[in-house]
Amino acid sequence: MPRLPLILAVVIGGLIVTDIVFRPNDPTPDNADVALAVADPGFPPKRRPYVEILPGSSAPLAGTPTIDLRARLAIRQRIEREGGRVYLDSMLATTDSMLIRWSDVRSRELSVVMVIDSTIGGWDPTATDDVVGAIRAWQGNGSGLGLRLVPKGPADVTIRWVPYIDSAQTGATTVEWGDNGEIRSATVTLALRQGRDSIVIPSYGRRRVAVHELGHALGLPHSSRDDDAMFRSSPQDAPSRRDQATLLLLYSVPPGPLRTP
Ligand SMILES: [Zn+2]
Repeated sequence: MPRLPLILAVVIGGLIVTDIVFRPNDPTPDNADVALAVADPGFPPKRRPYVEILPGSSAPLAGTPTIDLRARLAIRQRIEREGGRVYLDSMLATTDSMLIRWSDVRSRELSVVMVIDSTIGGWDPTATDDVVGAIRAWQGNGSGLGLRLVPKGPADVTIRWVPYIDSAQTGATTVEWGDNGEIRSATVTLALRQGRDSIVIPSYGRRRVAVHELGHALGLPHSSRDDDAMFRSSPQDAPSRRDQATLLLLYSVPPGPLRTP
């Protein structure tokens, strides 16, 4: 019987993790009346795992295709050489040293489908415009990986909205990958409100969240700097140079396990 590929289901910035949270009354230095902040600051964001392997999954390192040890060391050295220009090490710290990304997709576009349910509470048709803006923000990135909206699924990336997410999160992204480190699919969930009884997230807040979650869908981990779109509570509405450099590096090296003895 052929061995079925094991798919690890993970949540990036989801379930146990507070992702971007919208706080309407906190001033920010460079933006009028909106700030995004972590809901429960008691847990240091840098140390918090943003990737969780769901129950029932396991990491099949033994007997799976692995990158040659020398190649693994070379990739690790390359990541280290980049230093603070990138934040790919934050992925390795939370995936048991597995480099996770889409398969070789240079000059390829990932298909993106928006699943719209206009019956959900607080639905605003303009929410789709924010996603379109977020997709545009990632276009032309140096990795050669693009995003293209398609009218219906199945698609590489699925986007859906919910009235709110527990723990007052504003977005979450689930990524599934195989044991070769290649992403199979990504699902982005966007909240219309920050918590059950909170105010509706305005368009510019929704766009920030969409930019951040699409960064996860492209394969990016969290950054620890707040001038990056991939900071957990980023105030950015477009990827930074470091976001771009990290994405470029991610797609310059092969996916797969990088654990070294
Ligand atoms: Zn996140």
